[in-house]
Amino acid sequence: MKIHCTCGATIHDGADDLPHRAHIIPDQRWNRLFEDIDELIENQCATSAQRNAACTKIRAMVLANVRLAWQCRSCGRIYADDAKAKLSEYVAAEGASHHLFSA
Ligand SMILES: [Zn+2]
Repeated sequence: MKIHCTCGATIHDGADDLPHRAHIIPDQRWNRLFEDIDELIENQCATSAQRNAACTKIRAMVLANVRLAWQCRSCGRIYADDAKAKLSEYVAAEGASHHLFSA
């Protein structure tokens, strides 16, 4: 996937560990997600098979709550999906970091 930024740069996706991509979890989902993870670990991880299944469930739970965002390294614009995966563009203020999502 590529995003063609308004500034003319191209934002590339399609790999892991990208320094210009972030996974956003809405605050309205944050506590519930951790409560669900806690419940899974506390009540459904007695055996090795259950623990393996729990890992898969936790990944699915995180993926169900996360949205993606990308930042243009050239101009700092952020492109982010909303709850319906509609991409929106946000312009960075002057002097704002162009490396917001870097670890
Ligand atoms: Zn740009």
